[in-house]
Amino acid sequence: MLIEADFRFVLELFEAGRALSQTSLEKDHFRPVAEWAALQALRRGRLDESGVPLRARLDPIFSDELGRPRLAAIRLAIVRLDRTEPDWVEELRPVDFADRVYAVLAQQADGKRQSVPEQAVRYVVNAYPAPPVLLESSGVREMPCPMPVGEASLDDLRLRTRSPTQELEGEIPVFIPEDVIREAREQADAAGEVETGGVLLGRLLRDPAQAELFLEVTCQIPARQAIAESTRLTFTPETWSEIEDTMALRRRPDEIMVGWWHSHPAHAWCHACPLERRSACSLTRPFLSEADRIFQASVFSRAHSLALVLVDRVVGESFAFEPALFGWCREGLRQRGFQLLRNESAPTSSGSRQREIPR
Ligand SMILES: [Zn+2]
Repeated sequence: MLIEADFRFVLELFEAGRALSQTSLEKDHFRPVAEWAALQALRRGRLDESGVPLRARLDPIFSDELGRPRLAAIRLAIVRLDRTEPDWVEELRPVDFADRVYAVLAQQADGKRQSVPEQAVRYVVNAYPAPPVLLESSGVREMPCPMPVGEASLDDLRLRTRSPTQELEGEIPVFIPEDVIREAREQADAAGEVETGGVLLGRLLRDPAQAELFLEVTCQIPARQAIAESTRLTFTPETWSEIEDTMALRRRPDEIMVGWWHSHPAHAWCHACPLERRSACSLTRPFLSEADRIFQASVFSRAHSLALVLVDRVVGESFAFEPALFGWCREGLRQRGFQLLRNESAPTSSGSRQREIPR
């Protein structure tokens, strides 16, 4: 997606009234929220399936109270390239930039070996005029454009769920078959002390009766050629070509890469820890490492893209892999809900009619 702005946006941090630092908000910062806004527009039927590319336009709303260049909000408009009227508008408030503030503080703490307590920091977002720039998407690997949206009944899928989980406001429903979790778990167990993973294929579906968009994971493809280390998994070019070959063999044109999964083998990281400390250890809880987040942002940056983590949970005196799902929300990557689909070969759609949507 093109990101368009006539202004430079700068985050300014203060500690006890003293300027602490300034950091510019680069295009990549706005990409998740732009993708998220486009998905909301699609979800609510505000974008048709014309396949016209989209741009995200960023405009400052200056603060009456603080005066220029201080902002009250940034207006984010999703606009089709062939139009001027926006299809969707979001207002990003300074509070929406809290994650970036914490990231800057964490970086500084790392460099200076001292940290500034988060609550002591105040910040503002400023906008300065800049020559008009069109910032082209820099994604390493983009989804095919346009992207297929099939049709299916949401109620049919819900009938197959094992225990319905709560969906949060703004999240599209996600369904994952038990078989996919079982396969991933077996692969993670077999990998022993190193991380392992794969790619999740699935379908983006619309229920015409409910005007709702949802996502069904259909299978996982093990990343056999990936470089597995204890704390990191690296997808090589060979990994990608094997995944593409497998997709071609499956001959399911409605399937797209909807995300990836990997394991966090805490039993290898924590085996020296005393038993009572393991269950309190953050490594046995769901999280995405910095490397995981960078991978997600560069490869799976679409708003519907998922990151499934097999978390090594402490069970008694041993460990067991449990799934935790992460996805993009308005503010960035967060753990999110999903529904587990029972194993049965029930048809989920009547032929899944192909439709095209713009990206
Ligand atoms: Zn990880």
